[in-house]
Amino acid sequence: MDGLTAKELKDRLFYQPKHAAAQMTEAEIAAADSFCEGYTDFLDEAKTEREAVEAALKLAKANGFRKYEPGTYYPPGSKVYCENRGKALILAVTGTVGVSEGARITASHIDSPRLDLKPNPLYEDKELALLKTHYYGGIKKYQWTAIPLSLHGVIVKTDGSVIKVRVGDEDGEPKFVVTDLLIHLAADQMKSTLAEGVKGEALNVLVGSRPFDDTDEAQNVKLNILRLLFQKYGITETDFLSAELEAVPAFKACDIGFDRSMIGAYGHDDRVCAYAALMALLDVDEPEHTTVCVLADKEETGSQGNTGMDSAFLAFFLADLAKAQGLDAAAVFSASRALSTDVNSAYDPNYPEVFEKNNTSFLNYGVVLKKYTGARGKSSASDASAELIASVRALLENAGIPWQSGEIGKVDVGGGGTVAKYIAQLNVDVVDMGVPVLSMHAPFEVVSKLDVYATYRACVEFYKN
Ligand code: MN
Ligand code: MN
Repeated sequence: MDGLTAKELKDRLFYQPKHAAAQMTEAEIAAADSFCEGYTDFLDEAKTEREAVEAALKLAKANGFRKYEPGTYYPPGSKVYCENRGKALILAVTGTVGVSEGARITASHIDSPRLDLKPNPLYEDKELALLKTHYYGGIKKYQWTAIPLSLHGVIVKTDGSVIKVRVGDEDGEPKFVVTDLLIHLAADQMKSTLAEGVKGEALNVLVGSRPFDDTDEAQNVKLNILRLLFQKYGITETDFLSAELEAVPAFKACDIGFDRSMIGAYGHDDRVCAYAALMALLDVDEPEHTTVCVLADKEETGSQGNTGMDSAFLAFFLADLAKAQGLDAAAVFSASRALSTDVNSAYDPNYPEVFEKNNTSFLNYGVVLKKYTGARGKSSASDASAELIASVRALLENAGIPWQSGEIGKVDVGGGGTVAKYIAQLNVDVVDMGVPVLSMHAPFEVVSKLDVYATYRACVEFYKN
């Protein structure tokens, strides 16, 4: 190293993450922008976990994926999907070496924070009809007032028929809203904390205001709404009890910035990694290792429930693949490697105090490799081994993919979790990796197009190696 200038020596010795644009050719940047056009379409189509499964299945079927039949032997290069109750999905391409060598698994989640309707939601108060909600996932409640909302989900009747609901996203459709207190009367509210200013029981969605007729009988506005719902969906009030209806932001995904370098949308966390991983899997042909893309539900409430990653659906799927090849599931899990593909907090210039700049992720600096998540003393973290980080680092570096390391924020300021620990339970080597996000969990989140593309490329490399 003799004779090197300070700059040359720094280039050789320092960890110096760079803006992705400085590491990419014009053609690669154009490819990233065009990749993200498909992503924004996916976002507008898939605002709930059920819609994300439908959208993913449509893409998968168009790319030759067939329904997985348990107990079947699949030759190398077979493309299969396994749907879990319409809310989670596993897609796989069988490898040339057999699952005894382990699988390459990515797991992203397709649920996002939102307002779920309560089982008995509809009521009338002073001739306004409203829907009671119970928020889902970690939200700042004040962010969900005074923005246009749409309603998505299903109503299931006792005869088993499923009525799909999706209203408020298309031009010409009515939207809904949670009203906020006018500033003129908000003196007390403004003195309360942000956590207390809007209460959970105040997140009631306004859905009507005109009575059924001009008699002054009670609940005529509610009656009119039920009449309209009966006309449109054939349902009565009792049918709400067997429904899953979610109020989500009615915004469409759009470019952000004069340079159109970013995307603003509801639900980047974690449909951005879900889409990147899915598109990477669709590009896989005859991989060496069996590649598996999991799109999971319920991450935002802790991954519990049979469609979340704390359930055995991935384990059962891998065990079944193993059995068809005459193998023991435990051996397959132990030889497998996984990416828990989920978003990370991006450094926000408006709130520098919560980030530790040497160990945070930045917008446009590429896909984020996270050694661990968790809170306080790494509580609830799946801390990836140095060996695994090294191998993922190697494949990112060899492929020239912009990447960075990052923690969620400063020690003891907060924290978060992902599905990594549930995959680790299977004795699979797993590390967190994903897209940096601004305004995470807000109704409108921001990501950079170059980071989205880097994450897609990282998944391609991971599946291949
Ligand atoms: Mn997430
Ligand atoms: Mn989240």
